[in-house]
Order: sequence, then structure tokens, then C-alpha cells
Amino acid sequence: MLDQLYSQEHHIFREAFRRFVAAEVTPNAPAWEAAGLVPRELWLKMGAQGFLCPWLPGEYGGLGLDFLYSVIINEELIRGEGFGVGVPLHSDVAVPYILSYGTEEAKQRWLPGCASGEVVTAVGFSEPDAGSDLAAIRTTALPDGDEYVINGQKTFITNGYVADLIVTAVKTDPAAGHKGVSLILVPAHAPGFSRGRKLDKMGYHMQDTAELFFEDCRVPTANLLGQEGRGFAYLMEKLQQERLEVCIKCQVMAEECLAEGLSYAKERPVFGKPVGLHQANAFRLAEMATEVELGRTFLDSLIADHLAGKEIVQRVSMAKYWLGEMVNRIAYQALQLHGGYGYMEEYRICRLYRDVRALSIFAGTSEVMKLIISRGLGLRE
Ligand SMILES: Cc1cc2nc3c(=O)[nH]c(=O)nc-3n(C[C@H](O)[C@H](O)[C@H](O)COP(=O)(O)OP(=O)(O)OC[C@H]3O[C@@H](n4cnc5c(N)ncnc54)[C@H](O)[C@@H]3O)c2cc1C
Repeated sequence: MLDQLYSQEHHIFREAFRRFVAAEVTPNAPAWEAAGLVPRELWLKMGAQGFLCPWLPGEYGGLGLDFLYSVIINEELIRGEGFGVGVPLHSDVAVPYILSYGTEEAKQRWLPGCASGEVVTAVGFSEPDAGSDLAAIRTTALPDGDEYVINGQKTFITNGYVADLIVTAVKTDPAAGHKGVSLILVPAHAPGFSRGRKLDKMGYHMQDTAELFFEDCRVPTANLLGQEGRGFAYLMEKLQQERLEVCIKCQVMAEECLAEGLSYAKERPVFGKPVGLHQANAFRLAEMATEVELGRTFLDSLIADHLAGKEIVQRVSMAKYWLGEMVNRIAYQALQLHGGYGYMEEYRICRLYRDVRALSIFAGTSEVMKLIISRGLGLRE
């Protein structure tokens, strides 16, 4: 289905980016995993070659390309071992808030840097006491002259340790529930802003995930995105692309896990024949391949709808739930096919298994997706 949408230019771009990943990402992935961080150098190199925010209009430093180029970047990063590189979160999740809701001055100031890699962004929504229920956030931003004074804390923030600019969810009217939520751009140099430690995670080791603190942190009121009190509506709109971006990760990682499981099962002999030729395992692989195929069909249809500007809330929630669970099933089975070797760091499936665990959690847990889907079915209290 998507094949028809990919043009010659897309294919050329994919080839160029694949070569870039092979040269700049794959050989460095083990070192970045150990360091818990992707160096700024990679961001700058990606920016220089048009691999950051390629969809941004030319006037803001981008190439004005369609969402398929973002799909290509996300897919090829995963295939080339860069599954923790926080670029898709920057390019396709955080920066779109600035283009859609920033003032012209904010766009001129920040977007060229977002495209060049000089400005790395993050989204600061989750708090220690509010993840699934974002209306319950407690970080406040209260006006004082022509500034907001922000107090509160964020946690689990991807790119949080290196980000220069954070799209931050705050309460500008703490008594108004979700109608009091606003989004504000917080530069990392703002007085009163600080970062906590880089969090130790089960997987995604090359991705810096951090706590952020706001103690009488002052930013100009012009840093407000859109209107006060509209933040929740903006989140609901932009979360669709964020979830689609995670669906792409789920699908490509499921494809990678299947490939690892299959190639190992064809090689390793047990009881006189390859693991995969024992019928229980052949059937297991047949089931895995079928699930992965179903996932690809579902994902591609969603990408096509998103490209066409269709509303995808219900279907992307279904996909985020199903693909997030599916990739975990595939990773589990692929590792099982490896026996003890699957538990060893030197085998790629070991890292894939660890990293896929987060996919059914971030950008909305499977349970939250089911909540949205059931509401879409008319099951509201
Ligand atoms: C690696 C990683 C990166 C992340 N990056 C970011 C980021 O860049 N920015 C950001 O803002 N956040 C980020 N997050 C946070 C992530 O979005 C939250 O962890 C997620 O939304 C869940 O929130 P929580 O952890 O507070 O869990 P909780 O909301 O406390 O949920 C706990 C459990 O309760 C379930 N649950 C919640 N509500 C219901 C319900 N109504 N019915 C039934 N079950 C329910 C959940 O599904 C879950 O199983 C990241 C998280 C991880 C792990």
C-alpha cells in the first residue's frame, strides 16, 4: 500500500540515510549505549544533511518534505542499531508544537536550530504523580509581569539530559482541571531550570532520560504556545503523530526480532536438526510472521491516512495498543528460540528484547489506549 506512495525521491533519500546510519550510527551504537547518551555531534551531522525535521518549511531551515521522510528516518535508525536515538521524538513530536502554536518570533528564533541540530528539543509532560492522567499535572506557571514563574517537576523525559528547549505542560489555572493546562517553551538556560540525574533504565540505554526541575523558573510570557488553557487540546491533537511514531518503532522492531529469531532458528541444530525445523518452532515462527505481517498492513494504512490528513485518533490508539503488545510477544518468542544465547549481551535479540519493553508504556500505555478506544465505541461513564 505504501509502496505506491513512495516516489523515486523517497527511495534515494532512504539509500542516502541508510549509508549515513551505517557510517555514523551503527559502529558507534555500543559506545553510546555504554555512555547513556548520543553525542551532539550526531545531531549536528544529521542536521547538516537534512535529516532533522525534513518536513519543516524552507523558511525555517527545513526541506518542506512529507511525513514519509520521517518514517524512513525512524525505520532506518532502528534497522541500523540506533533505536534509542531521540531524533524522531525531536523531529516528529516536539518540534511540530513549535511550528503549529509558536509565535512567529519563537519560530524564527528556534526552528532553524531544530533543523540544524544546534537546538535539541524534548517534551516535558509526565510528572512523578501524573503520567497517564495528564490533567493531574501539578507544575504551575503563574504570570508575573511579562514573565511566567514556573514551579514543579517532570520525570522520564526523553532527550531531557541534553535538550536545549523543552515543550513543557503546565497549569496556568491550577483550579481548572484539564482546562487549566497550557504549553510553554522552556529554554534550558532559563533561570530556575535544572536537570536531575540521567535515569538508569531497563533498556533504551543510549537514550538520555532525565528528571527536570523548575524552581521559580522564569520565562517570557511570549514563550506560551497558542492560548492559555488550550494545552490539553493541543496535546490531544499532536499525540496522534507521537503515537504513530511509536507504532513505527513497534513494527520495525517486531520485524527485526522476527528476522533474528528466524535466522537463528535456521542455523542452530538441536536434536539433530535446526531449531526451526522442529514443528513446534516452525509453527511458532509461522504465527510470529503472520502477526508481523498484520502489523505492517495496519501500520501502512495508518501512515497513508495520516499523510492524507485524515483523523486517526481511534485507529492509531488501536495500533499503539496492539503493536505495542505484539512487538513484546515477538521479542519474547524470538529470544526463546535463541535459548541461553538469547540472554547474552553479544546477541542482538538480547538488546531488542530489553528495548521493546518500553513501547507499550510511553506515549500512552496499552491500558490508556484501550480507554480511548472504548470511549470511541461509546463506552463512556
Ligand atoms: C523510556 C521512557 C521514555 C519516556 N519519555 C517521555 C517523554 O519524553 N516525555 C514525557 O512527558 N513522558 C515520557 N515518558 C513517560 C510515559 O509517557 C509515562 O510513563 C506513561 O504515560 C505512563 O505514566 P506513568 O508511568 O505515570 O504510569 P501510571 O499513569 O501511574 O500508570 C500505572 C499503571 O496504571 C495503568 N492505568 C493508568 N490509568 C488507567 C486506567 N484508567 N485504567 C486502567 N489502567 C490504568 C497504566 O496503564 C499502568 O499500567 C517516558 C517513559 C519511559 C518509560
